[in-house]
Amino acid sequence: MGRMDIEALRRDTPGVAHRVHLNNAGAGLLSRRTLRTMTAHLELEAEIGGYEAAERERDRIDRTYADIAELVGGRPAETALFDNSTHAWNAAFYSLSFRPGDRILTGRAEYGSNVLAYLQTARRAGAEIVVVPDDAYGQLDTAALAGMIDERTRLVGVSHVPTGGGLINPAAAIGRITRAAGVPFLLDATQSVGQFPVDVREIGCDMLTATGRKFLRGPRGIGFLWVRPEMLERLDPFVTEIAAATWDGGRGFSWHDGARRFETWEKNYAAVLGLGAAVRQALDLGLTAIGDRALALGAALRSRLAGLPGVTVHDQGEHRCAIVTAKVDGVPAAEVAAALARHGINVSTTSPGHTPFDTEDRGVHPLVRLSPHYYTTEAELDRAAEAIAGLPGRGHAFPSDLTICEENQPK
Ligand SMILES: *Cc1c(COP(=O)(O)O)cnc(C)c1O
Repeated sequence: MGRMDIEALRRDTPGVAHRVHLNNAGAGLLSRRTLRTMTAHLELEAEIGGYEAAERERDRIDRTYADIAELVGGRPAETALFDNSTHAWNAAFYSLSFRPGDRILTGRAEYGSNVLAYLQTARRAGAEIVVVPDDAYGQLDTAALAGMIDERTRLVGVSHVPTGGGLINPAAAIGRITRAAGVPFLLDATQSVGQFPVDVREIGCDMLTATGRKFLRGPRGIGFLWVRPEMLERLDPFVTEIAAATWDGGRGFSWHDGARRFETWEKNYAAVLGLGAAVRQALDLGLTAIGDRALALGAALRSRLAGLPGVTVHDQGEHRCAIVTAKVDGVPAAEVAAALARHGINVSTTSPGHTPFDTEDRGVHPLVRLSPHYYTTEAELDRAAEAIAGLPGRGHAFPSDLTICEENQPK
C-alpha cells in the first residue's frame, strides 16, 4: 500500500491516539502541522491585530490559492474561497440563468443541497430537472447522458463521489460528453478532492467545488470553487460586494478579474492558512499515493464487512473509494454508530435526504458509513469489523434484507 511512512504520519495526527477515526467523509483529522499553522495565526491576530496579521501573512494567504490550483490542475486566478463547499457550489449554480423549459441534467447520486437548489430553480424559473439513470454498476450511465443532452440542456451537475456511498462517478467520461455538447459541467468534488487525484484538465469540467474538512484534512468552515476562465463570461455572479467588484464612479461597477468575483471580503484567515497547510501536505505526500492507500483501505474494509454474516455492503460503482456503507441485520444504523462510538470508533450514518434521488431509487438509507483515510491502519479496520461482529442483537435477518445482497453485482 504505497511508500508512505504511516507511523510518522500518525505521530503527526493527534486524533489517532484517542479514536479509531473512520469518519473522514464527515471530517478528516487535522495534522499537527495544520493545527500549528492555525493556532499561530490566531495568536498573531490577538497580538498585532486581525488586519495587520492578514497583511503580514499576505504571501502565505495567496499561496493557498496557488496550492489549491495545483491540487486540481487549474490556475490561482481560477480559484475562490468560501466558507464551505455548498456556498462555493451555490456561487456557481445561482450565477447561471434558467428559463422555462431549460433542463438541468444530474445523476442519482447528487448531493441533497444541490438537489434542493435544482428544485428551487424549477419552482422559480420553470427549469426541468432530469435525472440520468445509472448503468449496470450503479454509476451515472454516460451513454444515457449522451443521448439525453440536447439544446434545452443548460447544465450537467454531478456529484463525483456521493456523500452516501463508495461510488466514484465517471467524471472524465461525463466531461467528454459535456464538452462535445458545449454544455456547462458543474462537478461537486467535495468527497473526492483530497481522497484521490482530481484534475480539471483530465475531467474537462467547467466548475468544481470542494471543502476543506473532509478528505483534505483541512479545518471546518472553508471550501473552494474552481472555474474555467471561459465560463466566467457565462456566469453573472448572483451576489456582489466590495471583494467581488469595484465601483467605477457614478452608477458603474466592474467585476474583479477571475474567480474571486464570487468571494466575499471577510474571511477566517486561520482557516484559509489551515486549508493551505492541509493542501500543501496532500501535495507533498502525492495524491496518487494518498488515493492508492485510501482506496485500498476502503476495499479491505469492504471485504471484512462483506465477510460478516448478517452484514450487507451497499457501495456501488465500477471503481469504489474509501467510503464504505453497510447495513447490519437487526441493528438500525444509528445504533451501530452509537455502539461503535462506545468502542472509541468514529463512524457516521447516511441520511435519506442527503441523496434524495438515490433514496428514491434504492431506498437503503440510513446506512452505516465508515470512511478510512491513508493514515488508517489495517489493525483499526480489524477493530471496527470485530466491534460490528460483536454487536448485540445482530443477525436477526428479516426476509426483505435478503434480497439486497446482490446489490454490488452489476445488474
Ligand atoms: C459534504 C458534502 C457537500 C457539502 O459540503 P459542505 O462543506 O458541508 O458545504 C457537498 N457535496 C457532497 C457530495 C458532500 O459529501
